[in-house]
Amino acid sequence: MENADKIWEDKNEDKKKGSELQNPQESQEFTTPIFLEDIATYGGTSIEELARSVVASIVDAARKRPEFEKHYRETYGIADQQDFQQGMNVFADRRIKEFQEHFPRKQKEFKEQAAHCLTFARQHGYIADTRPIHIVITDWFLTCGKPNLTGTDSYDHRTGVTFVGIDRPNILLAHELGHSLSHTQTEKGSQRVGFSIFEPLGGGEEKMHGCQWLNEGTTVLWENQSVNDRSTFSQRALEEDFYPYSRDLAKLLLEKIGVPEEILFKAYFGDREALHFLNDAINRRFKCTMEDLNCLTLKLDIKWAKSILDGQPVTIEILETDHTSIIPEKEQLARIFPNVIIKKELTKRMSGEAVGKESVMDTNS
Ligand SMILES: [Zn+2]
Repeated sequence: MENADKIWEDKNEDKKKGSELQNPQESQEFTTPIFLEDIATYGGTSIEELARSVVASIVDAARKRPEFEKHYRETYGIADQQDFQQGMNVFADRRIKEFQEHFPRKQKEFKEQAAHCLTFARQHGYIADTRPIHIVITDWFLTCGKPNLTGTDSYDHRTGVTFVGIDRPNILLAHELGHSLSHTQTEKGSQRVGFSIFEPLGGGEEKMHGCQWLNEGTTVLWENQSVNDRSTFSQRALEEDFYPYSRDLAKLLLEKIGVPEEILFKAYFGDREALHFLNDAINRRFKCTMEDLNCLTLKLDIKWAKSILDGQPVTIEILETDHTSIIPEKEQLARIFPNVIIKKELTKRMSGEAVGKESVMDTNS
């Protein structure tokens, strides 16, 4: 760690001195425009209209499938004896009222959090330019069944818009803004969002590369540092093991390759030298690329990952029940880490041991 620190400081010493002299703006106030709006305005409609269309699609689905109606009655608290459509209208009206009541306060809080993120990233030298920030405040109910309005918390790299729910804590906005602020363009014309790269394939299609867990893990480290109101990771209540695992794995990786967190952040925010330094350190230590390390999410268990990175013998079973997409990942793991031994087990697994992952994560959420 010390060594890597030293090399990095030496390399940047001259640059630092130069920028202090030539760039007096560094210490001055900066004004990146921060633009916030509600999901209805963003969609070119009104809150009432959004709610009406959500109710219409729910009522329609409930008419076709009685089990849906039962589910919706439970979700939206509509008593069995109450008319379903009327009950949905009452719920929608309440939701509209709540959204409109909370919006001004939330708009102010989110704006302050966004300004804080910008200042923080600027002061640490993570970002330099002043790209406007566009935040859309969404609502889980009003965006039901509207994929074009991206109802969930996410950063959309295609439009550059950050979506965040009105009920969400500041730390979630800080997280999504991490994705937004780490969005740069590569020399080859791909979009780089942290450690995820979206390569255009033509016809609006993209291919995603990079290292997803390192991207999310770094974003979680960032949100904890840049949150301005002490809201916490646990308040995000994502019920996903992937995020805490990725955060811990990112820290573990830094320890193993002897790279300080500052360089991880610089690389995440697109600093080419830092990125090069990080890739180099990974390559030196593990003889592979950052992207190759994706196979470390086969099991979301930090002790397991530590054994692998420590070079301890770890046995991975290839099971008859394995999904075909899992097998290449297991083989990849054994290729990169000589201490990982593959055992082909062609009988159905009997124990509940969790090897393999069931879900594919969304990079930008
Ligand atoms: Zn994320």
